[in-house]
Amino acid sequence: MKKREFLRTLGLAGLGLAARPWLHSGVPFRAGQPEFGRKHWAWLATDLLSSPDSMQRRFAVMRKAGIDAILPEIYDGHRAYYKSAHLPVEELWLENLLPLARAEGLEVHGWMWSMPCNIEEVRRDHPEWFVVNRKGESAAEKPAYVDYYKFLCPSHRGVHEFLAATVTELCQHRDLAGVHLDYIRYPDVILPEALQPKYGLTQDREYPEFDYCYCDDCRNDFKNQTGIDPMTLENPPANALWRQFRYDRITHLVNDTLIPIARAHGKAITAAVFPDWNLVRQQWPAWKLDAVMPMLYHTLYKKGASWIREETEKGVRSLQGRAPLYSGILIFRLDEKEFTAAVEASLEGGANGVVLFEGGAMSDALWQAFRAVVGR
Ligand SMILES: [Zn+2]
Repeated sequence: MKKREFLRTLGLAGLGLAARPWLHSGVPFRAGQPEFGRKHWAWLATDLLSSPDSMQRRFAVMRKAGIDAILPEIYDGHRAYYKSAHLPVEELWLENLLPLARAEGLEVHGWMWSMPCNIEEVRRDHPEWFVVNRKGESAAEKPAYVDYYKFLCPSHRGVHEFLAATVTELCQHRDLAGVHLDYIRYPDVILPEALQPKYGLTQDREYPEFDYCYCDDCRNDFKNQTGIDPMTLENPPANALWRQFRYDRITHLVNDTLIPIARAHGKAITAAVFPDWNLVRQQWPAWKLDAVMPMLYHTLYKKGASWIREETEKGVRSLQGRAPLYSGILIFRLDEKEFTAAVEASLEGGANGVVLFEGGAMSDALWQAFRAVVGR
């Protein structure tokens, strides 16, 4: 689908992509104009139990420790935690926390899951939207690894519209600085090494049950482009055209559908991405985002802090100055020394800052260590 035609269906065409970015004072992020200064972030997992007072106290601790922006999880592929007209709504968490964050001077970016869709009505009404593996099994019926891996396929117009509707809704929030895309990818064809034993797997190559997407639309579109039905390839993982076709499907969704909506509303748009992006078909160096946040969760890859530095350097190089990079750090099971080493490795590698996963799980000792290392 053409971008213009698609925006028209959403009723957005009239806004114009060159519309003057709308910004209120106190939000330094200028959509489409990447900021390369130092900045630190924290992802915030949905938390409906904490009272407004305790949330406010937590925000004050974060701000004092050196966090500039938070990414609250306001859609998790099942339910929305903001006032949505098209997703099932659990609670208006975003609306509650926006004034609290603003009072502490924290920038807020709405963290939304992108491709996994665990909404029963969508599965019932649009089974054809879901990815199909090389064995012909739909993720709607038989998801890989875990029950929630019901990924949508980026080749469907309806899927673009579904995601666009979420981004459009989020962009209506005056105090929201940006939209943050998570799970903007295919299912992992190979899991990080430390996770494989958890599922009783040894993934020494790309196996058909984890290799997506072979739905009719993907097969037909690829066949129209190349004359090849990917299902008939003797060794699909070895085919560079088929690999690139799938990278391009996600890139098109990001660059041509979702980014223009954020830009039209003057909002920043960022994404959580994989360091080994080829395994999730996520060619993020080609995306025109305001910032990228590679999840450099070294313990999941059985690596030390030096790996964070190397991956940060690699990521910064691959972006060629197009957008700032913030290294995502998994804080679980790290002591203060290991945590400090991870933050230092990110900054040494050339990151503009770090993103902590996740802010709600940080102990006082880790906040203290963070404050010491970022020098505030
Ligand atoms: Zn497909």
